[in-house]
Amino acid sequence: MKKKVIVIGGGIAGLSAGIYALRCGFEVTILEKHTMAGGHCTAWKRGGYLFEGGMHWLAGSGEGEALHSLWRTIGGLDDSVTVHYPEPFAEFDFQGTPIRLYRNVDATEQHLLKLSPADTREIKKFCNNIRKLSKLNMPITDLKGLHVTQKRRLPLFFFFSMLPVMRVMREYSKMSREEYASRFSHEGIAELIRSIPGAEQGIAMLFLTLGFMARGAAGFPEGGSLPFVQRVVNTFKALGGKIHYETCASQVLVDKASGEKAGVGKASGVLAAGKRFLADAVIVTADTMAMEHLFEALPPSPWFERMKKLTEPTMVTFVSLGIKADLKNYPKFYLFRLKKPMEVLERRYAYLGLPPALLSGRAAVQYLCRDTGTPFISERSPPFFISNNALQHQ
Ligand SMILES: Cc1cc2nc3c(=O)[nH]c(=O)nc-3n(C[C@H](O)[C@H](O)[C@H](O)COP(=O)(O)OP(=O)(O)OC[C@H]3O[C@@H](n4cnc5c(N)ncnc54)[C@H](O)[C@@H]3O)c2cc1C
Repeated sequence: MKKKVIVIGGGIAGLSAGIYALRCGFEVTILEKHTMAGGHCTAWKRGGYLFEGGMHWLAGSGEGEALHSLWRTIGGLDDSVTVHYPEPFAEFDFQGTPIRLYRNVDATEQHLLKLSPADTREIKKFCNNIRKLSKLNMPITDLKGLHVTQKRRLPLFFFFSMLPVMRVMREYSKMSREEYASRFSHEGIAELIRSIPGAEQGIAMLFLTLGFMARGAAGFPEGGSLPFVQRVVNTFKALGGKIHYETCASQVLVDKASGEKAGVGKASGVLAAGKRFLADAVIVTADTMAMEHLFEALPPSPWFERMKKLTEPTMVTFVSLGIKADLKNYPKFYLFRLKKPMEVLERRYAYLGLPPALLSGRAAVQYLCRDTGTPFISERSPPFFISNNALQHQ
C-alpha cells in the first residue's frame, strides 16, 4: 500500500512538493484553505479587467537556470508556453525623454552613454556591476540546518560565480538608492534609479534584479499566474494527486508516543475543517508564522528559529485601478511620474508603472502599499506596481 502524504497549502510550494512526492510513489492530498490553488501566484478579475497579482517575471524562466527544470517538472513551463523577454524591459519617461533599460547590457550602456556622456564613468560601472551579477546562477539548496536524508551539495560553479557578486554586495549593500542616484549628473538617470521598484531594498538588490534580467532568468510566461498555476494543478492531478479546497488545516497531529521530548514525534495527520486526515507524513508550506499555530508544541529547532528571525510580518494592501485605454503600444515596463502625487492610505505616490506583462487591449494597473512603519514607499519612490491584462482580457 502506498504511504500517504498530506500537504498543507496549495501554493506553488505545496503543489511542487505534492508533485515530487507523487513521483516518488506516495499518495498525496493537498489541503488548501482558499477556493483555488496558487496562493500568492494569482490574478483576479473585476469589472472587465484582469489584475495580475503575482507574476511580473518568473524567477528561473530561462533554460540552464536551476529553477527551470523544476518549472518543467511541475508543468508550469512546457513547450507550448511562450516566455516573453521584451526589449527594452523597462522604460522611464523623463519629461518626454525615454530612458531605457535593456536585457542586453551593452545596449543599455550605449543608450545611457548617448544620453549622458558626462556620466561615462558611473554608467560603465553600473553596467559592469550588472554584468558581474548576471553571472550568478542561484542553485536550489536545502534550508540551512534542516534535517534531510540526502544533503544537496552546492555546485562548484556557484562558489566561483559568487566571488564577483560578493565584491559588488560589499560595496553597495549599505548604500541607499538616493545616495546612488546622486552619483549621476543626468537628472533623468538619477530619477530612474530612484523610481525602479526593488531599489528601496538596496542598490545591491537592484543590481541582482538587473543581473537576472541580463542573464535571461526572468521572462514572463504567456498568460501570467492563472494559467501557470492551472498547468501545475493539471500535472498534480494527472499524477493522481487530490486537492481539498476550502479546507483550512488547524493542527498537525503528532504521534507523541514515538517522540522522546515534548513536541517531538512523528506527524500522523492533520486536523482540518473539523475532519481528521490521517497520513504517514505531513508537509507544511504555510509561512513560518502559521507554523506556530499548527503544532501543539514546536520542538526548538535552529532552522525554524532562524526562519522566524528572517521573516518580517508584513501587511500588504493592494489598490487596483483599471485604465480604460489600449496600452499595447506602450513599452512593456513603463514608469512615469504623475502630474500630481496620488495619496492612498496616507501614503503619497509620485510614480506609476505598468509592469512587464503583455499589455494589449484594456489594461489594469495596481500598486502595492506596505503597511509597516518603514517608509518602504515614499513620495520619491514608486508604487510597487503590478499591472496587465495578461490574458488579453477585453
Ligand atoms: C505581490 C507579489 C508579487 C510577486 N511577484 C513575483 C514574480 O513576479 N516572480 C516570482 O517568481 N515571484 C513573485 N512573487 C513571489 C511568489 O509569488 C511567491 O514566492 C510564491 O507564490 C510563494 O509560494 P508558496 O507556495 O511558498 O506560498 P503561498 O503562495 O503563500 O501559498 C501558501 C498556500 O497555503 C495556503 N494555506 C496557508 N495556511 C493554510 C492552512 N492552515 N490550511 C490550508 N491552506 C493554507 C494558502 O491559502 C496558500 O494557497 C510575488 C509575491 C507577491 C506577494
